[in-house]
Amino acid sequence: MRDHIYVIGGAGANVVVSAGRDGFFLVDSGLESNSDRVIASVHELQRWIDLKTAPVERFGAEGNASTVLEPYYRSAPPKPIRYIANTTIALDHIGGNAKVAAAGKTFTGGNVTGQIGGIDEGAAILAHENLLNRMGQLKLPSKALPTDTYFGNQMKLSHFFNGEGIVLFHAPAATTDGDSVVHFRYSDIIATGDIFRMSAYPAIDIEKGGSIQGVLDALNRIVDMSVAEFRTEGGTMFIGGHGRIGDLADLTYYRDMVHHHSRSRPGHDQEGNDARADQSGQTERGLGRSLRDRPDVDAGHVRRGDLQEPHEEGRVGSASVRK
Ligand SMILES: [Zn+2]
Repeated sequence: MRDHIYVIGGAGANVVVSAGRDGFFLVDSGLESNSDRVIASVHELQRWIDLKTAPVERFGAEGNASTVLEPYYRSAPPKPIRYIANTTIALDHIGGNAKVAAAGKTFTGGNVTGQIGGIDEGAAILAHENLLNRMGQLKLPSKALPTDTYFGNQMKLSHFFNGEGIVLFHAPAATTDGDSVVHFRYSDIIATGDIFRMSAYPAIDIEKGGSIQGVLDALNRIVDMSVAEFRTEGGTMFIGGHGRIGDLADLTYYRDMVHHHSRSRPGHDQEGNDARADQSGQTERGLGRSLRDRPDVDAGHVRRGDLQEPHEEGRVGSASVRK
């Protein structure tokens, strides 16, 4: 996509990949059933970047841009998957965790894999603490669980990776209470998970602490972090959980669409307050349902989560039909 950042599509959620001398950093791992394909794609990338000169030549704590070490890099074995960051708990995002993380070790270990204590760990899985707790409640296998969590509003990788800083931001109460957004700082790419996606309405999991206001807050925060190259195009680019990549125009259209729906659902007053408001946090549950209830919105789009076709209400469709 840009520099050393790639996107693997079709694995479930988009899998974002930073590929280079320090190894591989993945955002999300796809569906469990697609793990072999994700790993095969990583292998393919490994072979491909081996044939190229290093894509990033900046100083980094892990030894980029050293002429002394250059011969070592030239003969180094393929780099392993070192990290998987999870953006949310949906199974098309975390389903591949166990298998893909385990594949991390085979690239490093070679013949000695499993024979040396500690080398058998596989890739680290990064996520917000709330996500780990939610995954624990789902009784997912321990190999699929995050190994490194944070509980503040962000986690900075302790070192440059493939020549740049990587920061995970917590998006509180967005699609769940454990969502993270991943910022590749030099590449100027933000992996948003399901907070922004070019192929569907937001899916907000109320039971897991999500809220439409949280999605809006997260989208606004991402807008604040972003700088377009010219007006709203170019510059910071966004890789959503699903669908194609977007620029600031796409993201702000999407933000406006979410805002519009948060304020115009049946049973809500002008301020977006739920006339049937109860204290149980049920107000956002019906985003999809309330859209289905609306005669001006084609129910088929809602059911399929599909924004590809414009429909009568231009603002709704404009998020993805702009290009
Ligand atoms: Zn998703």
